[in-house]
Amino acid sequence: MDSSYDLVIIGAGPTGLFAAYYAGFRGLSMAVVDSLPEPGGQVTAMYPEKMIFDVGGFAAVRGRDLVQGLVDQVEPWQPAYLLGRKAEKLESVDGGVELTLDGGEVLRAGAVLITAGIGEFTPRPLPAGDGWLGRGMVHFVPSLQVHAGQHVVVVGGGDSAFDWCLALHPIAASVTLVHRRAKFRAAESIVREVRGLGVRMITDAEVTRFVEAPDGELAAVEVAVKNGEGEQLPANAVVAALGFTADLGPIESWGLEIDHRAISVDSTMATARPRVYAAGDVAAYPGKVKLIATGFGEAATAVNNIAVALDPEAHLFPGHSSNAE
Ligand SMILES: Cc1cc2nc3c(=O)[nH]c(=O)nc-3n(C[C@H](O)[C@H](O)[C@H](O)COP(=O)(O)OP(=O)(O)OC[C@H]3O[C@@H](n4cnc5c(N)ncnc54)[C@H](O)[C@@H]3O)c2cc1C
Repeated sequence: MDSSYDLVIIGAGPTGLFAAYYAGFRGLSMAVVDSLPEPGGQVTAMYPEKMIFDVGGFAAVRGRDLVQGLVDQVEPWQPAYLLGRKAEKLESVDGGVELTLDGGEVLRAGAVLITAGIGEFTPRPLPAGDGWLGRGMVHFVPSLQVHAGQHVVVVGGGDSAFDWCLALHPIAASVTLVHRRAKFRAAESIVREVRGLGVRMITDAEVTRFVEAPDGELAAVEVAVKNGEGEQLPANAVVAALGFTADLGPIESWGLEIDHRAISVDSTMATARPRVYAAGDVAAYPGKVKLIATGFGEAATAVNNIAVALDPEAHLFPGHSSNAE
């Protein structure tokens, strides 16, 4: 069904979520679209268990907790989340824009704010897991508790594979890391930490088959070891942490000025197209610093300018939230 909003935000990373808060604060109806199944952008996909030390107001905050805080902050304004949906086509129409999502749904809006970060993430595939995504295989872990008491096999040799081992080890029945090379890409310190926990690491090895239980659930995986004997590992879940590729994809064909895989904006975060704004990692201007803190400021600037574009009688300054009821 096609829908209509004051503002559509493309990207539910930290910038998009904070922009949604500001849109609510400004009384705008909004939808937040993201191709990932969970909000949080790069933080959720790549480092949910890491501590972040440079977000104002937090001496240290775990990535997952920052995202939850952003989701809680916007919750009173009830954004329409369209997760697992990709923004494909943007057209200018009388009084605003029309955004077409994969699947053909069309969202009409007075304005669009592109907070697409480094673009759409595509997880690097684990060929043996074809057909198992969502049935035992995940690329990142939205909720650790789902894996409590499970046998988990983590595939990969980078930082995120080791992050998942650290996070899952205290609650899972077992965690085994399988990596196809002898050397890891992850930082030496985290490799040491995971090794110190006694997590089993099988290197020079590949997961070759997912073994189905009679009830259709995942029961085990078969692992082939280079120059060695293969084995079957019990597995209720496989975390295929092989990394992501990111690509602006369709956004590059929307007639926007693209500068080094980002969108050129002015000091109001407006692009060259009317009613089309950008903020966060995806927005480019001289002196840009790509950080969460920067995205938060740009989100506030963008949404307050959008409020005026939608209603020229509105004030640019939103008032202080501390004065709100
Ligand atoms: C390992 C790592 C550690 C980091 N540590 C820090 C740190 O300590 N401090 C710090 O400030 N920054 C850090 N960063 C950078 C920080 O994560 C980014 O600056 C921040 O995530 C940018 O937020 P964003 O919302 O602009 O974009 P993103 O987080 O990239 O979110 C963009 C969202 O848009 C979605 N999207 C893109 N295209 C489409 C489309 N066509 N349709 C639908 N959805 C789409 C994507 O799926 C994504 O969810 C780190 C980054 C990495 C990778």
